[in-house]
Amino acid sequence: MPVSSKADLYRKLPSVDELLRNAEVTAIVSREGQAAVTDAARTVLARLRAEISAARLDATGVDLALSGLTGAIERQVRRSTSFSLRPVINATGVILHTNLGRAPLAASALDHARDASSGYSNLEFDVETGERGKRDVHVDRLFRKLLDVARVEAGLRPVPTQSAPTETSTIVVNNNAAAVLLALNTLADGGEVIVSRGELVEIGGSFRIPDVMAKSHAVLREVGTTNRTRVTDYERAINEKTRLLLRVHRSNFEITGFTEQPGIDELSALAHARNIPLMEDLGSGSLFDLNSVGVSGEPGVRDSLQAGVDVISYSGDKLLGGPQAGILSGRSDLIARMRANSLFRALRVDKLTYAALEATLLAYAKRDFDAIPALRMMQLSENEIGKRAEAVAGKTRSAKLLVEMVDGESVIGGGAAPSAVLPTHLLAVSCQGLSADELSARLRAADPPIIARVEEGRVLLDLRTVFAAQDEVVIVALRHLAE
Ligand SMILES: *Cc1c(COP(=O)(O)O)cnc(C)c1O
Repeated sequence: MPVSSKADLYRKLPSVDELLRNAEVTAIVSREGQAAVTDAARTVLARLRAEISAARLDATGVDLALSGLTGAIERQVRRSTSFSLRPVINATGVILHTNLGRAPLAASALDHARDASSGYSNLEFDVETGERGKRDVHVDRLFRKLLDVARVEAGLRPVPTQSAPTETSTIVVNNNAAAVLLALNTLADGGEVIVSRGELVEIGGSFRIPDVMAKSHAVLREVGTTNRTRVTDYERAINEKTRLLLRVHRSNFEITGFTEQPGIDELSALAHARNIPLMEDLGSGSLFDLNSVGVSGEPGVRDSLQAGVDVISYSGDKLLGGPQAGILSGRSDLIARMRANSLFRALRVDKLTYAALEATLLAYAKRDFDAIPALRMMQLSENEIGKRAEAVAGKTRSAKLLVEMVDGESVIGGGAAPSAVLPTHLLAVSCQGLSADELSARLRAADPPIIARVEEGRVLLDLRTVFAAQDEVVIVALRHLAE
């Protein structure tokens, strides 16, 4: 057989127009639309031309490719019209998994976001007066209730202040990193902020306290040492340039051993005696009593307010269990200054966030904690998880697939209580002929992808973070492995 020249091979390829007249391709057009199919046909033909040009295809290869052309176009259409951002099943047992989107939203948050954004809304409009309104009123109302009621309930003194305003106000920006930037820039631009050397933290994804401080144009004044800082260290560092005392939550690590850190109430007493505001970057600010799920020592937003902290910053999508947001709660006069800063306009959030946050807060106001998925997962008992794991194991065990139940630990994640764990039952899975890494890759290739842990050569699934309605999908995927 004569060897075909590249020109001969190129001539074998149909034109896009010819392809679009083909009956099978017309059928794809009727489903997916002309534009997507034309694009896909161009891409597939360009790929073939590149292969011919690189001499990777001979006449037989071209004929083979042409016989599968419609299939290739169909796959290309599917690839280019499918979403890149898609749901996955989180079987890692890390409840607030930053790489997997942190807090899943409550159904009511999604409903409210859809209602408030599929048409117009009163985002910045006062329906009563017909005048322009402020977008933050929608959540400030609920924050006031959630943060003030607690103080009344507990019979505690109001937030101590040196001047008149005692009300707690809240504003919302894009994320907690933005909240810290806005607060530092508003309260300490050009002045000094005192921080303990034990709290100059880096939170994943390049949020470093010294860098944020520099961007805010505040001057970092480090005190103490990595392991020990006393209240007198802060006291000695205070001078006429001091604008703020800052406490930063050690979200992702612990310092143990020979350590000392002043209590937040001690810092608060010092700050107020010297008439300097105290700010706390809580990171994962909780409005929920974590002691009820056996996690102690993690201060909540109310604890900090009660201790006299003037401004607290925290994330919307960590322990709060809502949408991504940075929340600043505290003394009304300080919050009002932040609202007036032009950075606030640059960092503001849209109606989707306000709607999702408002619905999440409403669940708190109704004490309907089960409506918030992250809280529901935290409250799941070892027993409930064990029952579900047993059921999955029973339906998937086979000669090829070994599925065992083992004791293990789930973690909260998202920078909350870094050393706290919740007891759980894990499914340890192994499959004949597959390594643990291969097995976990096969689970990731499922639709939707299932993300598991690999530890000590075993694949571990924690159903705590798997929605009960997804157990069936996990069963199907595991059975599929053994086929
Ligand atoms: C998580 C965290 C941040 C960053 O919050 P984002 O909402 O991710 O921007 C900042 N400070 C602390 C202490 C944190 O834990």
